[in-house]
Amino acid sequence: MNKTILHWSYLNFKDVPMDLFLYEDLEEVYLKENYISAIPKWLLNITTLKFIHLAGNNLSELPVDIYMLENLEFLDVSNNELRELPKTLGLLLRLQQLNVSGNQLTELPVELNTLRNLEQLNIAKNQFRRLPIQLSECVRLNELNVSDNEALLHLPERIANLPMLQSLHADRCALIYLPAALSKFMNHVRIFHNTSVNYIPMIYERFYQNFYDNRQKVTPIPIAKKGFFWVRELETNKLLLLPVGTRKIYAVPSAENRVTLYDDCLHALQTLNRHVPVYENAALHRMLPEPYMSGHINNGPIARCTTTNCSSCLYTTYYFMVVKRRGSASKQLFTCNFCTQYCALQWLSGNMKKYYQVDWKVCDDDDLDDDDDNNGDNDKTRQS
Ligand SMILES: [Zn+2]
Repeated sequence: MNKTILHWSYLNFKDVPMDLFLYEDLEEVYLKENYISAIPKWLLNITTLKFIHLAGNNLSELPVDIYMLENLEFLDVSNNELRELPKTLGLLLRLQQLNVSGNQLTELPVELNTLRNLEQLNIAKNQFRRLPIQLSECVRLNELNVSDNEALLHLPERIANLPMLQSLHADRCALIYLPAALSKFMNHVRIFHNTSVNYIPMIYERFYQNFYDNRQKVTPIPIAKKGFFWVRELETNKLLLLPVGTRKIYAVPSAENRVTLYDDCLHALQTLNRHVPVYENAALHRMLPEPYMSGHINNGPIARCTTTNCSSCLYTTYYFMVVKRRGSASKQLFTCNFCTQYCALQWLSGNMKKYYQVDWKVCDDDDLDDDDDNNGDNDKTRQS
């Protein structure tokens, strides 16, 4: 069986040549770096196509009928002028690799959640502000690149929960904190130059490079302080923003040693969720005591227990530790999240030689006003 491959890159084509039709059983076509501004309708009838490379052309949209290419496994439309992706992309059920980087996209269609064979997704260099939680339903996703989306504030925690995700790139975004729920199976992470991030969850330690210390001195983006959970680290007086959803944290060691009933419920639901995901189970949705809870389950855990052989999911309440490396020039703060005091003390006794604990306290709103890390243009006027 010979497959037909056409190499038509760098040929200054303004249109996809009709000659394409002459080739039987055409499977792969390279049309990189031409001047093609539209994918013609007739191309969508060549259903033998598995591979289309159209990087570096002038495409301003993808045809809604693109789903007709039902055997498509690879689509690269990077470095074009796309502003929107058709929802029908979600019907390309065999798609394994999708590259839409270097366009002007602002939203990823929720419908891509049906791409259960998708292994690589590159959405770098666009204008995404958020990513749909439903991306976490692309269960085969192995590599995700969201770098250079300058307005991207937050990665849905659940994405870090994807069972096969091994590689995550999120350089030069506007992340306000790094997702601390990373799976322990992750083996490649790059999250450099997110200027608002001022601490690194311990789970990143194995990806840590001095690079993190040499972050560009750029003014961090202003973050509205209300409604977030902040901690002030007392050695350098830095404010740390904890993951959205954090309700209560305990110090280590701490007199209290329990999780809340609420977290117990979330854990129980999480087990159920493995069989029928909450997002697919309307009945379960209605049973939940409050919508906030289903939000937590849909978003996934806030973090995982830092004790590697535990790694259990943490939802709203956890034991929290801030540490620095001993004898290192680096002033980098690392944070640890634990499920129980027991896990925390176990981790600490195994890592005492390398790290020491730094004190912190929870910030209330008054305390936040004194923060001089930010430019002070969001000062509240106090009433006397
Ligand atoms: Zn634990």
